[in-house]
Amino acid sequence: MIPSLENLVEALSQLPTIGKKSAWRLALFLLEQNQEQVENLANCIGEIKEKICVCSECFNYSEEELCSICTSATRDRSVICVVEKPMDVFTIERSGRYRGLYHVLGGVLSPINGVTVDKLRIEELKQRVAKAKPEELILGLGGSADAETTALYLSRLFTQSPLRITRFARGLPAGMELEYVDQVTLSQALNERIAIHYSTGNKDNS
Ligand SMILES: [Zn+2]
Repeated sequence: MIPSLENLVEALSQLPTIGKKSAWRLALFLLEQNQEQVENLANCIGEIKEKICVCSECFNYSEEELCSICTSATRDRSVICVVEKPMDVFTIERSGRYRGLYHVLGGVLSPINGVTVDKLRIEELKQRVAKAKPEELILGLGGSADAETTALYLSRLFTQSPLRITRFARGLPAGMELEYVDQVTLSQALNERIAIHYSTGNKDNS
């Protein structure tokens, strides 16, 4: 019995995709590193909880009140891409094909799991759209049934807004979360997005 090592294995095996065997491998690897390397890793882990908060505009993770995307002078402010979670921002950014802003909902509607409209940052999105008046809202919400329901809800919510609402084009596999979509497919889906609603704000045309 080596309690401290076993505690580390137990903690590591709580991480996603890490089983008991991988946890043992990682723990033994760390044990063989020098003091400085291990301390650096421990500090990095501690720091993310200390320094990272949520951007007050787009709700992506940030070290400042406003994230670097929201404050960037080179991003296209006329487009907001609505995503489920911060990981999706990372995935889309990695594709390098998107220059607009984001809005992280914090999940997708799933009444059966207690995720109702008030649990997501939908009211914040409404206020943001009213204030910032973007020209386009891209619903970048993956292919699950709940994501589809959420996209439909949002497209109806903004029916009266002078806003183009688009979604990722074909190519996104049904049921698949955004983070598992490969880069080529994602870039293509972004480039070929389809309009699901266009309103001039004039009821005669909606
Ligand atoms: Zn932001």
